[in-house]
Amino acid sequence: MTENKKIYEALGISQRVLSYGEKILDGLKGRFEEIDGIAEYNQLKVIKAMQEARVSEACLSGTTGYGYNDIGRDTLEQVYAGVFHTEDALVRPQITCGTHALALALMSSLRPGDELLSPVGKPYDTLEEVIGIRPSRGSLAEYGISYRQVDLLPGGGFDYENIRAAIHDRTRLVTIQRSKGYQTRPTLSVEKIGELIAFIKDIKPDVICMVDNCYGEFVERLEPSDVGADLVAGSLIKNPGGGLAPTGGYIAGKRDCVENAASRLTSPGLAKEVGASLGMIGAFYQGLFLAPTVTAGALKGAVFAAGIYEGLGFPVVPGGAEERHDIIQAVTFGTPGGVVAFCKGIQAAAPVDSFVTPEPWDMPGYDSQVIMAAGAFVSGSSIELSADGPIRPPYAVYFQGGLTWQHAKFGILKSLQQLLDEGVIDPSAIP
Ligand SMILES: *Cc1c(COP(=O)(O)O)cnc(C)c1O
Repeated sequence: MTENKKIYEALGISQRVLSYGEKILDGLKGRFEEIDGIAEYNQLKVIKAMQEARVSEACLSGTTGYGYNDIGRDTLEQVYAGVFHTEDALVRPQITCGTHALALALMSSLRPGDELLSPVGKPYDTLEEVIGIRPSRGSLAEYGISYRQVDLLPGGGFDYENIRAAIHDRTRLVTIQRSKGYQTRPTLSVEKIGELIAFIKDIKPDVICMVDNCYGEFVERLEPSDVGADLVAGSLIKNPGGGLAPTGGYIAGKRDCVENAASRLTSPGLAKEVGASLGMIGAFYQGLFLAPTVTAGALKGAVFAAGIYEGLGFPVVPGGAEERHDIIQAVTFGTPGGVVAFCKGIQAAAPVDSFVTPEPWDMPGYDSQVIMAAGAFVSGSSIELSADGPIRPPYAVYFQGGLTWQHAKFGILKSLQQLLDEGVIDPSAIP
């Protein structure tokens, strides 16, 4: 242990911060065992899907050009369908990010005159322009697709009465965001999502239920597609890419829905038959293989961060003792200085770009300034240790990722050290 202390000290972590961290960790053994149990289950689930799809060495080298008969691509899509227990899947480097995957799922399922319903409040910031909540070129609104929203109840529960009232003839698709995103509402458990879908299908059986699965993959043993979701979508530079996927997105679900999405992504008539997997297909497989344990490391980091900052009196969502349904941890500092210092600490702990200082900027798609800390191997990857916070009240920072638990731990200790060094937290406040 003294060797470890020495190297922490060499990396700028004081004795006080380190021993506070160890004290918090002592209380987390049970939580960590629970997380490891889920990782074990999901690791086997992924291996089972790979074996059943008969993944072979030939699948690991990509194609170029049109990508006809791309066995690696087609088999990987079968593997994703196996993991999510869906009829089919679309997993492509040509899906550029999570927003693109979600936009693709929405735009390919909805037709002019249809209505989209969000029964869980305002969706993720970037979807506002996809839907047309904020006017934008090419939005669903421009195509005559209307949108309706029912907010969550103040305690975070579903407003069943108003959801029932919001469903009508034209309601074609219901979008449910699993993770809290940049909000302080609770993240939805898979069980809760299942209850909501059952309620909606009972009112209108043919409505398509889609789940924005970003940051939720492999956090629980079940996925939303196990509890009735017709479609799930997400980003490969979050959980399911395991840190190795250099880009990409996925959609898994009912055959018809996936076929619609493929026809929109490539072209009617071509659908899933084209799309070269290029040189990255091997990383997609290996990343998916690692994703359950990488997600577990990120979850341990999130639980640790909650314990550290809750112990110092800052509001944290979820609370240190609460069950987790995504890898995001929100900490409310109440001042811009707290958000900025936290992000500086995370940046200083990075393997890449540790020497740069993050600053708030006007990021496209967001309506206030945002500060981001990321020293990632894959640019913008948020399964890697990263933190971001919009510079607006209540001045909360959203922390996520860590390809290894050890890196996540170091990053969190470094963030606390930075808050102390900048005088945001008084040393005497550390128990
Ligand atoms: C990250 C995220 C998105 C958007 O993904 P990008 O890859 O950043 O475009 C959508 N919804 C949720 C809940 C997310 O966390």
